[in-house]
Amino acid sequence: MKVNAYAVSEPKGKLKPYTYELGTLGSEEVDIKVSYCGVCHSDLSMMNNEWGMTQYPLVPGHEIIGEVVAAGNAVKNIKIGDKVGLGWLSASCMSCQQCMEGSHHLCKNSQSTIVGRHGGFADYVRGHWSWAIPLPQAIDLSKAGPLLCGGITVFNPIILADVKPTDTVGVIGIGGLGHMAIKFLKHWGCEVIAFSSNPAKKEEILAMGATKVINSRDPKELEAIAGSLNFILNTTNVSLDWNSYLTTLAPKGRLHTVGAVLEPMAIPAFGLIGGEKTVGGSPIGSPALTKTMLEFCVRHTIYPTVEEFPMEKVNEAIEHLEKGNARFRIVLKN
Ligand SMILES: [Zn+2]
Ligand SMILES: [Zn+2]
Repeated sequence: MKVNAYAVSEPKGKLKPYTYELGTLGSEEVDIKVSYCGVCHSDLSMMNNEWGMTQYPLVPGHEIIGEVVAAGNAVKNIKIGDKVGLGWLSASCMSCQQCMEGSHHLCKNSQSTIVGRHGGFADYVRGHWSWAIPLPQAIDLSKAGPLLCGGITVFNPIILADVKPTDTVGVIGIGGLGHMAIKFLKHWGCEVIAFSSNPAKKEEILAMGATKVINSRDPKELEAIAGSLNFILNTTNVSLDWNSYLTTLAPKGRLHTVGAVLEPMAIPAFGLIGGEKTVGGSPIGSPALTKTMLEFCVRHTIYPTVEEFPMEKVNEAIEHLEKGNARFRIVLKN
């Protein structure tokens, strides 16, 4: 099958129409006709080879919503005609310890949708059935794409850290990931404090469900909430004064990062020891948890705030994201 896609061929290059042949469908694979695809910061990082693992030409796109149009003869759980979502991962081995425990996202032999294979800035994409997540019937397809990568990335830490509805929590960085985290945590029952350095976003952040917006550039505002947070989720990829965030944690609190900060994080041991505090991180989440998250979203009508661009205007969409103007997540429509 011939796929019409958009690909970059060099760092900082523009996306150009690109066609490729999908080849024979594997027995456990499905082909998905793409209806929508979200634009994630990882697409930018991969386009520009910031992580040193890009293979050009690259078709980005890993927040895919579409319909199964072909299924190999050993595909389980889904069938032709089903609406599915495909995120950062497209396959895992199904037999290692992690896969057998249901943590397919930690499989060492997993395949990313846009590393060594082509993603969702296209009319079709292929993946293993295990990562083609069946969508709840009532879900809004036009807004669901970003849940498949950004959404599950901020949902998994809530489970990992055992966040309780009675907790007071903080979210650092209110962009694509952070704004979804606020919505999840609000519906989880928590009191949510947002850390943002952009005062222009304040009203929108409060409307999402945060009870307070703290200017993360003002040390006095951080001091004022010392010892009050049970959980902090960092969604930014910049180096911050981590110790001042640790002081905002209550005893037994956890600072959890999903933002890929490239420099080592300076964490003083005494900032952790006295209050039995912990620091952790996580990538996306398992297929089963992704499905659970989608059901939670439908139950509470939780969706990312999206801006829609037609797929043909993908370069405009990327430029919009690069300039920091996305409010708050971009979705491409086929
Ligand atoms: Zn992503
Ligand atoms: Zn595995």
